[in-house]
Amino acid sequence: MKPCDVAIIGAGPYGLSAGVHLRAKGIEVRVFGEPMDFWANKMPEGMLLRSPRVASNLSDPDRAFTLDAYEAASKKEPSAPVPLDTFVEYGRWFRHQLGSDLDQRVVLHVDRDKADFKLTLQDGEEVRSTRVVIAAGVGPFRKKPTVFDSFSQQQVSHCYEGRDVRKFAGKRVAIIGAGQSALETAALLHEANAKVEVIARQSHLNWIGKHSWLHHMGPISSLLYSSHDVGPLGISRLVAYPKVVSQLPLRLRDKIRTRAVRPAGSRWLPARLASVKIMTGCTVLKANAVGDEIDLKLSNGDERRVDHVVLGTGYRVDISRYNFLSQDLIREIKQFDGYPKLTSGFRSSVPKLHFIGATAARSFGPLLYFVAGTDFASRELASHLAKNGR
Ligand SMILES: Cc1cc2nc3c(=O)[nH]c(=O)nc-3n(C[C@H](O)[C@H](O)[C@H](O)COP(=O)(O)OP(=O)(O)OC[C@H]3O[C@@H](n4cnc5c(N)ncnc54)[C@H](O)[C@@H]3O)c2cc1C
Repeated sequence: MKPCDVAIIGAGPYGLSAGVHLRAKGIEVRVFGEPMDFWANKMPEGMLLRSPRVASNLSDPDRAFTLDAYEAASKKEPSAPVPLDTFVEYGRWFRHQLGSDLDQRVVLHVDRDKADFKLTLQDGEEVRSTRVVIAAGVGPFRKKPTVFDSFSQQQVSHCYEGRDVRKFAGKRVAIIGAGQSALETAALLHEANAKVEVIARQSHLNWIGKHSWLHHMGPISSLLYSSHDVGPLGISRLVAYPKVVSQLPLRLRDKIRTRAVRPAGSRWLPARLASVKIMTGCTVLKANAVGDEIDLKLSNGDERRVDHVVLGTGYRVDISRYNFLSQDLIREIKQFDGYPKLTSGFRSSVPKLHFIGATAARSFGPLLYFVAGTDFASRELASHLAKNGR
């Protein structure tokens, strides 16, 4: 069995973009996974993208296959914010640039095979590859507070665990968290006639774009914010240069990262949440099942009886939760608390094993959490592989 040059695991925005860039450099590549699976099947129905249109493009070498190009080709009216379905369809249109280099099968296992890697696919077929790029997203990294450990998904689910918000009509739902996913899910469930309450640890909610006038001062705004709009004034500019960020000491990188992605909701959410009950400065201390219902004891002494809890508690990167990676590989990958340590070309400490997307954010900064980071990641990876052999 002849190995392929590069196998990319995951066909989300990062995997698809990287695949198109490598192909354009004449590198033999195979991208594995169902295109846009996470966005199509795990995000709540009716969601709007938080990122601005210019920061919601997948990346190709000539910047020809943009969201604008997709809308023009499919005669769709451009809209901002971008609806989830439009973004999923855009990704599926974009994936045609990969032709037969896309293989929709899931990779069950990755291990070393002498100097190469061996991938076992869902139907048992084995594929060898000289290099592997992990672009598998954050799906397995969902955070679940321990008080909810004993509950099934029927009673306690995560914001990134399903699409259908209508099934909650008439139900009492507590939503835990204060970030975009929690607040947007609250708005969607409220509009689907659920009885919603948001419970947030933060003492107050943060809203993105509160000082929108700062974004409308022409060239001065461009000095303050990059078009990606990741992070607050000033930090936004720095974040746009992941190579520069990667040269900073880890402690400073971590500060920039946490400041750039603190929990906050988009500016279109406050109006939609006007009649939703929001309890801030409060955590859930205990959760008990009472038949089909759940009793919540809150840190302020209050109690709630609900039918369902939705966790908008974010995720924590931990590559040992990529259960397709062999234990040997996981042990060999040098890490900072679950994130792989990466150097130029998104190389991990295991030769010819690369990581792109959120797992690269601790090395290259918070841009890598977002679709906007696909351009840097794909160009950096492609130029490294073109220079350093196949
Ligand atoms: C609720 C929510 C809202 C968000 N909104 C925005 C936004 O507005 N703008 C923005 O820029 N970012 C947003 N993000 C962040 C977003 O997840 C990332 O920007 C983007 O998905 C990163 O792309 P990716 O390719 O790394 O990951 P993903 O889109 O998760 O793609 C990874 C893919 O790999 C597949 N995969 C995993 N394991 C395997 C395997 N073993 N074999 C084959 N395939 C595999 C998965 O099924 C998945 O489809 C949001 C995230 C969430 C959870």
